[in-house]
Amino acid sequence: MKFPIYLDNHSTTPMDPRVLESMLPYFTEKFGNAASRNHAFGWDAEEGVEAARKQIAKLIHADAKEIVFTSGATESNNLALKGVIEMYHEKGDHIITSSTEHRAVLDTAKALEAKRGVKVTYLPVDKFGMVNPEDVRNAITDKTILISVMFANNEIGTINPVKAIGKIAKEKGILLHCDATQGVGKVPIDVQDMGIDLMSFSAHKIYGPKGVGALYVRKKNPRVRIAAQMDGGGHERGMRSGTLPVPLIVGFGKACELCEQEMAADAARLSVMRDRLHATITKALEDVYLNGHPTERLPHNLNISFAYVEGESLLMGCKEIALSSGSACTSATLEPSYVLRALGVGAELAHSSIRFGLGRFTLDEEVDYAGKRIIETVTKLREMSPLYEMAKEGIDLKSVQWAAH
Ligand SMILES: *Cc1c(COP(=O)(O)O)cnc(C)c1O
Repeated sequence: MKFPIYLDNHSTTPMDPRVLESMLPYFTEKFGNAASRNHAFGWDAEEGVEAARKQIAKLIHADAKEIVFTSGATESNNLALKGVIEMYHEKGDHIITSSTEHRAVLDTAKALEAKRGVKVTYLPVDKFGMVNPEDVRNAITDKTILISVMFANNEIGTINPVKAIGKIAKEKGILLHCDATQGVGKVPIDVQDMGIDLMSFSAHKIYGPKGVGALYVRKKNPRVRIAAQMDGGGHERGMRSGTLPVPLIVGFGKACELCEQEMAADAARLSVMRDRLHATITKALEDVYLNGHPTERLPHNLNISFAYVEGESLLMGCKEIALSSGSACTSATLEPSYVLRALGVGAELAHSSIRFGLGRFTLDEEVDYAGKRIIETVTKLREMSPLYEMAKEGIDLKSVQWAAH
């Protein structure tokens, strides 16, 4: 077993060696600009890009012409929200989204509110982190032009009922954007079947390179239009100017092809490992709570709160394992995760949460080792915790008068 162990595959994934292999010629002999129309260097590069576009489209059941390359899902989310608002502002000025979206959607929505007077409804989620399609329906007004709901959450792995939301969007003639960065390549996604009009995703979350992503933009039923947010050479059918990063795009295509072939097997293997890890932890420790949906969740995600233990201290106690805690340094202070808070998880338990993100290259022995070390560390930290001691003595911690208050 090699250390450190990587269990943070929601943040990014290691690149698959087969992806790297596919990219290499495009750094050297096939270095051309895909927009160079009058020589072989350009044609070679363009051929690489168009093959990748097909591989990417196939994974999500789209047409290659519906794929717009970007620098990643952050840019795709910006382009979708800002591009739709700018293009359709005469139709309305209202967006519906959810409170557990990635920052790239939430901050874009906030910028649109502040700078363009757009009205945004941030839907609540249930205790498992799921958006209720009926809440979407009830939030629709005659000014609504876009619904943006994520496919699966990056912290808790909960998968939203996107198909049901898509049906409502279609019924009302409103566009549906989906940030599917965590879902694409991990679980089957079909933009036709699910009624998705715009969809963001990124190569580096699916064993591809960093710095490239895509926005799916529906071409028919309806034909979606977006205003470009970057002025320039008119690349990507005028929706996103800039010389294409050919090697990254070729790698992105290969990553999608591999996901298409191996997604089912990866998901089956990882969910078994994940469930075993969960069972081991709950068997050994009391006062542990699963965050997110028990069944409607990504196969490689596990998010657990360990009561009476600070997530950050837990991570410090097992530095040889790369994990993520539910506390985010969003400001000078350590804020508990807004996603967990949106599920109604208290600040204490939110601070005590750990996200396990398994991946294609995760080994059984790594997961077993992580489980053992987490159990050891939680036990040790609890032994040192006065709060845990008080709770064990039957003192109701809520009734305690804290000196600091
Ligand atoms: C990682 C992630 C993003 C941002 O993607 P980048 O390609 O890193 O910009 C957006 N949304 C979700 C849900 C993510 O997990």
